[in-house]
Amino acid sequence: KGERLRLPPWLKTEIPIGKNYSRLKNSLRDLNLHTVCEEARCPNIGECWGGGEYATATATIMLMGDTCTRGCRFCSVKTARSPPPLDPSEPENTAKAIAAWGLDYVVLTSVDRDDLPDGGSEHFAKTVSKLKETNRSILVECLTPDFRGDLSAVEKIASSGLDVYAHNVETVRELQRHVRDPRANFDQSLAVLRHAKAVKPTLLTKTSIMLGLGETESQIRATMKELRESGVDCLTLGQYMQPTKRHLKVEEYVTPERFEHWEKVGKEMGFVYTASGPLVRSSYKAGEFFLKNLLE
Ligand code: SF4
Ligand code: SF4
Repeated sequence: KGERLRLPPWLKTEIPIGKNYSRLKNSLRDLNLHTVCEEARCPNIGECWGGGEYATATATIMLMGDTCTRGCRFCSVKTARSPPPLDPSEPENTAKAIAAWGLDYVVLTSVDRDDLPDGGSEHFAKTVSKLKETNRSILVECLTPDFRGDLSAVEKIASSGLDVYAHNVETVRELQRHVRDPRANFDQSLAVLRHAKAVKPTLLTKTSIMLGLGETESQIRATMKELRESGVDCLTLGQYMQPTKRHLKVEEYVTPERFEHWEKVGKEMGFVYTASGPLVRSSYKAGEFFLKNLLE
């Protein structure tokens, strides 16, 4: 009891590096952008930045600082009750830098800022509209907090000009309390996704579930069903990895075959796309999936 599971072979494989990777890596130096891809040492960076058949590159940018007001038990981001104030020039500067960088698809995400009256939603929305002003062809996804269920914050972002509204439920309904900060819950997250779609029916909504936290297969299926019935368009499923000893332990390494199975189930349920695999993260090749499904 209490022993850690050994890393299975499928998580030790080398990941291919696409052709745009070095170009993007070199041009990032002067831009002063903080990418989650680099800072979280994401294993998918070669694939996301390198691009695929449809998109040249996808990257994820973190807004509103590096300190979160919450403490989810799977996440290694720093926590504080009142993080430093927002940088008012961030929306404009970030938008300019992203526009100059050469991406097809960008994911803007942030820590949770429960200390701010609007949760930072205005700041988020401003970044999107500045970015779209500067570069009309770039596809923008926002991966947002739940704003404690404040739907006016969701509305601000949903109507800012973005293409994809993402918010992660993180795990099955039954494990919410065990995995996420107590201020988060399944129904609140579902309400965020529903509201984004209601505000702007043409945008795609997207969510993500980690596997390996002790959920059962029937719980996964029921959660997926509930998401689809709530109108969520896109779904990603990936393996939970324990960031440090203080975080939740991995209960199971789900095999690549089971991940494939869930991808099939997602397709059958009618999601626009389901990306499912051990290393899949919520933003994994997001541009590639988006364009592939839009064009085919
Ligand atoms: Fe990490 Fe997000 Fe939870 Fe904050 S709200 S601790 S950034 S997962
Ligand atoms: Fe960046 Fe997300 Fe791709 Fe990782 S999965 S490299 S964080 S865009």
